[in-house]
Amino acid sequence: MIYRKYGNTGEKVSILGFGGMRFENPSDIESSAEILLHALNKGITYFDTAPGYCGDHSEDIFGTAVKEMKKLNKPFYISTKSNKPSGADLRKNLEDSLRRLNVDYIDFYNCWYVLTMEDWEGRKKGGAVAEILKAHEEGLIRYPVFSTHLPGNEIRQVIEEGYFRGVTLGYSVINFPFREEGIQAAADNGMGVVVMNPLGGGTITQNPGTFDFIRVRPEQNSLDGALHFLMNNKNISVILTGFRNKDDVDTAVASINSFEPYTAVEIEKIKRHIEGDFNNLCTTCRYCNNCPVDIPVWKFVESANGLYYKADGSLSDRLKYHWGTELSVLDLCTECRLCEDVCTQHLPILERFEELKAAIAENK
Ligand code: SF4
Ligand code: SF4
Repeated sequence: MIYRKYGNTGEKVSILGFGGMRFENPSDIESSAEILLHALNKGITYFDTAPGYCGDHSEDIFGTAVKEMKKLNKPFYISTKSNKPSGADLRKNLEDSLRRLNVDYIDFYNCWYVLTMEDWEGRKKGGAVAEILKAHEEGLIRYPVFSTHLPGNEIRQVIEEGYFRGVTLGYSVINFPFREEGIQAAADNGMGVVVMNPLGGGTITQNPGTFDFIRVRPEQNSLDGALHFLMNNKNISVILTGFRNKDDVDTAVASINSFEPYTAVEIEKIKRHIEGDFNNLCTTCRYCNNCPVDIPVWKFVESANGLYYKADGSLSDRLKYHWGTELSVLDLCTECRLCEDVCTQHLPILERFEELKAAIAENK
């Protein structure tokens, strides 16, 4: 295992983090808890969960595992979250998490899922941020952190307000141009960086042919390509991966252990490829979150990405099971084109809607 500094906190964490959102049998608390113990024995020390994950079983699984993990006398860190804007509601979440997780304090507590700058302002106004800082003073939270889907320049703004010691953000070889500034801002401010969604929502490993160029060495597979690209960024502290079972842990640990740093030329080659050939892909940057009739535009455009590379799964499954929406939502569209005006990829969004409808009608 490789360990990295978590910003300037003085903590060293495993570069591979355990994401507690994908358990195969989450209602089987005991056997799911064994997966965490297995991961700790393989050298993983960063464990991330949240209320609501896996039918709300995840924190209970973690709590069951924590009882045993404490006996092993090995260091480990627990991360959990609250998305409540109100201070009182966040406090309730925190107290529930402490109880369920069987801990006296949370190592990394996330002001969770900051989506827009308005949302961020709401977290401050509602008292959530103040409550996190108060709980830190009380010793219930060791490090106040936040998790976000904001674009890089807005992540920088939140970071520079100075409330937090770390950030969790979605970042992968596909969307790196949009969040890179956020990672740099974290590094400039001595903050830890936890990367979620390192496989681009599964796009990379489900389409190994398309993403073959991210493999720098012949012995690498597409998982290695995706993880090793991120590992080359020294400012990333943790790469969070959702594990279904012990085999998933073993596969990811083997990939991490086979890492050899890339040369600057190799990294540049990958970046140029993404910026060139993948220019027509939606990167889920969510700048198009401005629709007057609340259509989640990115969910449809990202699903339509599959028309531009050889997607393995069907487009309608992507829409339904990954994004939890359906084509009929598009009936609300007034064709105002406000979304196209702000699309960072300059995509013809309305055309993509039509292509998606046609492809789903043909059962693609
Ligand atoms: S064109 Fe349609 S999807 Fe785009 S912003 Fe207007 S109503 Fe929303
Ligand atoms: S459609 Fe454009 S603006 Fe919207 S998420 Fe995709 S790339 Fe970003």
